[in-house]
Amino acid sequence: MVSKAIILVCDGMADRRCSALGGLTPLQAARPKSFDWVASRGECGLMDPISPGVPPGSDTAHLAILGYDPYKHYTGRGAFEALGAGIELEPNDVAFRCNFATVNDEGIVVDRRAGRISNEDAEALSESLNDIRLVRNSDVKIMFKHTVEHRGVLVLRGEGLSRFVSDIDPHKVGVKFLHSKPLTDSPAAKKTADVLNELVEISRRVLAEHEVNKRRIKCGQPPANVVLPRGAGTLPVLEKLPTKFGIRAAVIAGGAVYKGVCKAAGFDVLDVKGATGTVSTDLDAKMRAAVSAIKIYDLVFLHVKATDVVSHDKNPVKKVEIISRVSEAFSTILSEVNLEDTCITITSDHTTPSEIGEHTGDPVPVALYAPGARYGGVERFDEVSCASGTLGRIRGVDLMPTIMNFLGKVPMYGE
Ligand code: ZN
Ligand code: ZN
Repeated sequence: MVSKAIILVCDGMADRRCSALGGLTPLQAARPKSFDWVASRGECGLMDPISPGVPPGSDTAHLAILGYDPYKHYTGRGAFEALGAGIELEPNDVAFRCNFATVNDEGIVVDRRAGRISNEDAEALSESLNDIRLVRNSDVKIMFKHTVEHRGVLVLRGEGLSRFVSDIDPHKVGVKFLHSKPLTDSPAAKKTADVLNELVEISRRVLAEHEVNKRRIKCGQPPANVVLPRGAGTLPVLEKLPTKFGIRAAVIAGGAVYKGVCKAAGFDVLDVKGATGTVSTDLDAKMRAAVSAIKIYDLVFLHVKATDVVSHDKNPVKKVEIISRVSEAFSTILSEVNLEDTCITITSDHTTPSEIGEHTGDPVPVALYAPGARYGGVERFDEVSCASGTLGRIRGVDLMPTIMNFLGKVPMYGE
């Protein structure tokens, strides 16, 4: 038995064969040394994050990896974003992720990121949105919080709200932003759609008159003249992991949604300076933070987003470079933690083929090192090599019990 576990999830790291890499996957091309070390001394296999062939969202994949069946527990992405942004959600709140965007006079979205607006500008605009008071729906309180660049979180607080409403965000440019519609017949869904539509109406007036936008127009920058909410969600009711397994757990991640899923599962969120959830994230800072955290916590969940970012950018060559960088940074963990007392797992939350640029339903490689682990036959950490490992093929929800078994934290079933 060991008493500690570290899980490294590189978002969208798994891939398919890439012609730009001579028919190799980015993992095969990168030959990441520290990952290979874990694979050659660990139980390796393939993992279907949700179910074979089902392309997972990052939110549902993470729920599964933490041991929660996403088909039972998923209540929309917005709540995770809000939790990850540090908002304390109440059970009746409905939360959305939002973009600051630019629309023309006809309401057609011309830039979904408002020229990748700076944090300073977005922060100033967010504050003005927080002052909005609705008229038709005066009983509903609005909370808006800026996160990174053009992104933010919107929370609606009040009685009789529902997450079953459609997005304002059309998810593409060149079309008008949408009216939210109720997705069920319930009065709550009708009311929530109306709240969203009223909010967007008022916010457009507030944003149009804002000094920041006047300055942006003068300087030739696209104004952030609309907010586009999407991904309505409510707080999921989850049995917290620390309670379930009797452990202390912490998460280190840049992106809000990953912090949010882990927070919903009872993890402490450790903020690391330089952990941005982008390609320029400070990997060394995150690794050092994990080394410190594992002295206090039993489980440290470490998330790296950059692998998914370059996959969506359809850049397999850059993906190879990022994988190599993560692997090199990860060697700090292998050299600093007590490997006699720590289970180390490396995996990915889904496949994002970098020649497709979207998530697909392929399984992902997983390698699990622990003293006594039944390893053998695998030398490298990649999508093909891991397939012949001793772990076989597991589902995302199997991963957490598999790890906790090495910590002796899974109660015996039967006598
Ligand atoms: Zn993901
Ligand atoms: Zn992605």
